[in-house]
Amino acid sequence: MKTASRIVGTASFLEGYIAQDCPVYGAERRGAPIQAYTRVSKNPILERGVIVHPDITIIADETLLDDHTANVFQGVYEGTITMINTHYPSAHVRERYGISGKIVTLDITDIVLTQIGKPVLSSVAAASACKLTGMVTKQSLKEAVAKELFSVDLPQEVVEKNVEAALICFERTPDIHIDHSEPIKDDNTFVKLEYSGPYLGTPSTYASGNTVLKKTGNWRLFKPVIDYERCSRCRACFIHCPHSCISLDTSGYPQINYENCKGCLICFCECPKKAITKEKEVREW
Ligand code: SF4
Ligand code: SF4
Repeated sequence: MKTASRIVGTASFLEGYIAQDCPVYGAERRGAPIQAYTRVSKNPILERGVIVHPDITIIADETLLDDHTANVFQGVYEGTITMINTHYPSAHVRERYGISGKIVTLDITDIVLTQIGKPVLSSVAAASACKLTGMVTKQSLKEAVAKELFSVDLPQEVVEKNVEAALICFERTPDIHIDHSEPIKDDNTFVKLEYSGPYLGTPSTYASGNTVLKKTGNWRLFKPVIDYERCSRCRACFIHCPHSCISLDTSGYPQINYENCKGCLICFCECPKKAITKEKEVREW
């Protein structure tokens, strides 16, 4: 999401706008919650504070909808366009969460898994945001994705796949745009930020032995599943799980605690019997 916010900023800049982007994050681990912001204007941006009322909100992980600490709808107003990465239709999400304003849903994870083969969402999340602004062309998006990804030394082939995925996502994002005739909502209000404990957006690592308190199961994109017909009870998965999410039952078979398993798939890689498969998570709402 940090890279996504940069791509949106760069694409806007290429369209002649002035852009500012900033990420806010705690745990630097894939899957952990993160927020990133982009502010775009035709005029010099003197405001450096938080974005109080976002015109567009991209929720890249649908599990955050149920995570009260993430507070993903903070500042959303009737003019905000909210894009949620999910395979569920927008009406379903609106009904379940009682969200007002404009809602767009698109399974951008599915797009990257098909096009890139890895769950990296930066280019596609940015593409969706760019489309929803109504201010960025496909050409600028393409250049921005390439510029940002080359700047972190990704190989040509990977960058090309990302560009392709971004263009597909741009096409599939509905033609709904910010209403530019509305007065700007981000009105430079002074915002007093409350103290946020180290639990916000991070696993609670500030005390020992408290893993169970943080349900890192919602970080997971792929779920490891054990085939007990093939399992030889060798314990390799039990030993290698970095999060101690695998325990052994009284017969010595491994059991995965899905509330905390964060889907790193080390167990999947380490199993000598290939008894662990990975399944894409489909949230049951
Ligand atoms: S994917 Fe496997 S190794 Fe990784 S946290 Fe889950 S159970 Fe542990
Ligand atoms: S590593 Fe594979 S074979 Fe060994 S205990 Fe785990 S699931 Fe069973």
